[in-house]
Amino acid sequence: MVARPTRLTPPVECIRLFDAEAGLDGFIAVHSTALGPGAGGCRFWTYADADLALADALRLAEGMSYKNALAGLPFGGAKAVLRKPAGGFDRAALFQAFGRAVEALGGLYVTAEDVGTSVADMQEVAGTTRHVAGLPRADGRAGGDPSPWTAKGVFEAMQAAAHFAFGRELHGLTVAVQGTGNVGADLCSRLAEAGAKLVIADPNPARRDRLAHIHGATVVDVDDIAAVDADIFAPCALGGALTAETVRAMKAKLVCGAANNQLASPEVADLLLARGVVYAPDYVVNAGGIINVSAEYLGEDEREVGARVCAIAPRVVALLDRAAREGRSPAVVADEMAEEVIAAGQRAAA
Ligand code: NAD
Repeated sequence: MVARPTRLTPPVECIRLFDAEAGLDGFIAVHSTALGPGAGGCRFWTYADADLALADALRLAEGMSYKNALAGLPFGGAKAVLRKPAGGFDRAALFQAFGRAVEALGGLYVTAEDVGTSVADMQEVAGTTRHVAGLPRADGRAGGDPSPWTAKGVFEAMQAAAHFAFGRELHGLTVAVQGTGNVGADLCSRLAEAGAKLVIADPNPARRDRLAHIHGATVVDVDDIAAVDADIFAPCALGGALTAETVRAMKAKLVCGAANNQLASPEVADLLLARGVVYAPDYVVNAGGIINVSAEYLGEDEREVGARVCAIAPRVVALLDRAAREGRSPAVVADEMAEEVIAAGQRAAA
């Protein structure tokens, strides 16, 4: 089967952010507002040039449209990408300036944390805009660090996908976890508690060694993690973990992890299918964080977050079932299902 061409479509809005005094340099890309305001985190990262930052913003914003649609959230997709200044900078001033840019969009874009940003950064953003989530939690209300919700969703999706792929519990299975940051570390704790064996890799020795010590995980080099002898591969670092090369070398028969944009190119989805590897699509599996962020923005409480996160695993199974019946990649089926939801939103708004 031939993969669909890349699904990039023009964004609704793409704003260049530049404030030399504050050190602000980046983009806000709003990909779709068919289901509601564009929601997606703010990435703060080193980019060699503005074009690379723009490409990342567009790609990530589009991914958020699909993720929010399939999670059943009343939000479109958007993302902010800020270039980390090369020299010294005033972090508070930079995020306050970013907040002013978000506010100027009048609610078209709702921001939160992403790679490189923290709750403290979002508190600075909240000083200059209302359209921000990921702030400290207050009395049973949704809020705070979304990572534990993301990890819970990934873990439950993995449990369900293991039943689908192997017909058994996670107990005794070996899971290779790539990246032991906020989500990866939490996922490892849940996996260890469920009796799974862990193989981990992270370039950050402090994070990696702490987990090895607590859970008796085997540590391998970052270049080897995708090819280790494991039943499940869990990409929890940055995007692009699944290349033609890594998939050909992979021994795991199930991929289920937190990282966004795991497929380095659309064709990799077909390679996984051809090699008999079950792929639980990234944005379906990792929706726990945005579920928490959106509930916070809407003023909902944690019970609603819990109920929506619990719906992730059955959704993954329904998707894997349909893909298997149709002999197609779950990645392609997920995209189609998300596009149906977005199209219905567009029709309703017309
Ligand atoms: P994080 O920055 O806390 O952790 C990422 C970890 O990956 C770090 O420890 C880093 O050292 C490690 N890493 C980097 N390159 C690596 C490599 N080549 N091999 C192995 N490890 C490597 O980020 P996070 O919040 O844990 O998010 C992890 C992934 O999940 C990201 O792709 C993020 O976009 C995605 N995600 C996170 C959330 C959330 O709620 N935090 C929600 C949805 C998706």
